[in-house]
Amino acid sequence: MLLSEKVCIITGAASARGIGRATARAFAQHGGRAIILDLNEDQAKTAAADIGEGHRGLACDVTDKGACLAAVDRVVSEFGRVDVLINNAGITQPLKIMEIEPKHYDAVLDVNLRGTLYMSQAVIPRMRQQRSGAIVCMSSVSAQRGGGIFGGPHYSAAKGGVLGLAKAMARELGPDNVRVNSVAPGLIQTDITGDKLTDDLKGQIVEGIPLKRLGVADDVANACLFLASDLSSYITGAVVDVNGGMLIH
Ligand code: NAD
Repeated sequence: MLLSEKVCIITGAASARGIGRATARAFAQHGGRAIILDLNEDQAKTAAADIGEGHRGLACDVTDKGACLAAVDRVVSEFGRVDVLINNAGITQPLKIMEIEPKHYDAVLDVNLRGTLYMSQAVIPRMRQQRSGAIVCMSSVSAQRGGGIFGGPHYSAAKGGVLGLAKAMARELGPDNVRVNSVAPGLIQTDITGDKLTDDLKGQIVEGIPLKRLGVADDVANACLFLASDLSSYITGAVVDVNGGMLIH
């Protein structure tokens, strides 16, 4: 049991085949209390019930600072603490550089980057007060290698921004014993790509992966489990690659 009694907020965790849901499940299996935040309250509640008893699902649009603060307030009023935040909510769009319009930029930067900032700001005062906490931010191999997989340049920029934000938070929050790390997944089989990821494209991508398969949500969930738990007690400001070797630095 790596997360006994820990109160763990996971954003964007309602999606049935998503990384957030797999992470919430892994945390629950390790004794953690999973608080699933997502856009739709019913879907968030269903996801929490699906994981088991004692977990919670709340509506929270991470681009809305008031909603982030309200969700954390509800968690703290019921459970008295927040130990872990997984900034997982994200969207992507397969656009080329000249196709990116203001609405695309706003949508992708807002959920991935602004959402990570707002949710972190919502939990930091409590974590500082507790003098403990672990925040994990979901970046992407797209940030490290400049896209070329699915998401457009604005997605790479948003996920690159997440890496910088997480490292700066790690530096600032270290003295409060709050750790902040990032995970950079390669191509993981979830529903984020909609129907736009063809078998042909998958085949081409697998060619470039030393482990010769696409990732699954549990591959990423296990990395989050490590970074959320005390197994990583001396790790902060790090980026854990979960990409099958697609990018070896
Ligand atoms: P997914 O589409 O299955 O899940 C994303 C979830 O985020 C959904 O449940 C969605 O409702 C939620 N969400 C969207 N906007 C939101 C908002 N404003 N507020 C709250 N929730 C919101 O996608 P996934 O593949 O599980 O992706 C999870 C994270 O992993 C994302 O940040 C994504 O960018 C990142 N990632 C995914 C891959 C991949 O290949 N799947 C690779 C690298 C990084």
